[in-house]
Amino acid sequence: MEIELNSGLEEIRAVMRRFTDQVLEPIALEIDLTGEVPTRAYDVLREQGYLGMRLPQEFGGGGHDLLTYCLALEEFSRSHRVFTLILDASSGLNPIAISKFGSSAQKEKYVAKLATGQFSAAFALTEPGAGSDSQAISTKANAVQGGWLLNGQKHWISGAHKADVLLVLAVNDPKLKAKGGITAFLVDKDTPGFNITRVDTTMGSEAIKLAEITFDNCFVPDDAVLGEIGFGFKIAMDSLNSGRLGVACSCIGAAQRLLEMSVAHAKERSTFGKPLSDRQAIQWMLADSATEITLARTLTYETLRQVQAGRQVGSATSMSKLYCSEMVGRVADRAVQIHGGMGIVKGYPVERFYRDIRHYRVGEGASEIQRLLIARDLLS
Ligand SMILES: Cc1cc2nc3c(=O)[nH]c(=O)nc-3n(C[C@H](O)[C@H](O)[C@H](O)COP(=O)(O)OP(=O)(O)OC[C@H]3O[C@@H](n4cnc5c(N)ncnc54)[C@H](O)[C@@H]3O)c2cc1C
Repeated sequence: MEIELNSGLEEIRAVMRRFTDQVLEPIALEIDLTGEVPTRAYDVLREQGYLGMRLPQEFGGGGHDLLTYCLALEEFSRSHRVFTLILDASSGLNPIAISKFGSSAQKEKYVAKLATGQFSAAFALTEPGAGSDSQAISTKANAVQGGWLLNGQKHWISGAHKADVLLVLAVNDPKLKAKGGITAFLVDKDTPGFNITRVDTTMGSEAIKLAEITFDNCFVPDDAVLGEIGFGFKIAMDSLNSGRLGVACSCIGAAQRLLEMSVAHAKERSTFGKPLSDRQAIQWMLADSATEITLARTLTYETLRQVQAGRQVGSATSMSKLYCSEMVGRVADRAVQIHGGMGIVKGYPVERFYRDIRHYRVGEGASEIQRLLIARDLLS
């Protein structure tokens, strides 16, 4: 059964699928071999109009809606998670926050460059003492003549070591904290007092890095404030809310590819004189994965359609993120089992997918936090 977003988008999906298979997949193999992302990855995405695809057209963006953006995330994650991160750095949490809440000067300064990929962005909320409990951040913003002094530390910030502009959440009023005491700042990479103090590699692809940032009397001018003073936590939560649907679609794309690889392998590989696909034990794993992917699409696409139509969806974005991120873990586990040794040995895509998808249950609100939000909505 095909679960469609809408018929117009299904034509766009076919174009994205061809691009992913023919252009992105060879680059994905190169990334796996070298552990580096070649500049060609950015070039091909720019040439096809995918960089900045969700940013306003007046600033050189593609002007596409959330549905089309999520569709691109789904299709690109069939190949390699790196491509979804490149999309996010040019059209995700930080770029969308700037184009939604930024002043005209901030939009002029950043959005056109983000749209062409000349700039990349990062979103800095998490700290050593504040992960799931993001309201507990302690990076300070003290008002001084003409601006603010930032002091504190962030960690595990995706792509921060290569970002040109960071959206940094800092506390300007410790008494109010998330209730009007946290402000969002746009910090340029070369600002004195801003330092990348560590770069971590994740358990997934070598090419995916997270950075630790230290702010040491880092001065930013008043016009670096994004939105209103004290409005930062709302900006962060607004960004993360639509980000959850992007994560859900990325999980669906990866799961679909894992299922396709599993079906192909089950048909090709024979044991004891028969293809694996003739064995009921294998068929049941394929059937379970197909059923869960269909459920994931149904929930996520319906939530996307309602969000796009401007309806209140309660905790449905959390449900989509929760279900899809756990679903892809189960699908990946079955794919490894069906592939046997080929699912474990480095160099085969199933092994890399298995490691790469694990973070989806942790980043952008872990499963427990999504359950907490769903239950809160239910009980309120
Ligand atoms: C690949 C990756 C990319 C990331 N990129 C970014 C980024 O770009 N920007 C950024 O700001 N952050 C980023 N992060 C950080 C991410 O947002 C945090 O890791 C996440 O919020 C969880 O915080 P934590 O790791 O401190 O875990 P903790 O908050 O310490 O939680 C540990 C475990 O306890 C559970 N838990 C916590 N509180 C409760 C509770 N009340 N009830 C039940 N269970 C609970 C959690 O669900 C989790 O399973 C990234 C993380 C990863 C893994």
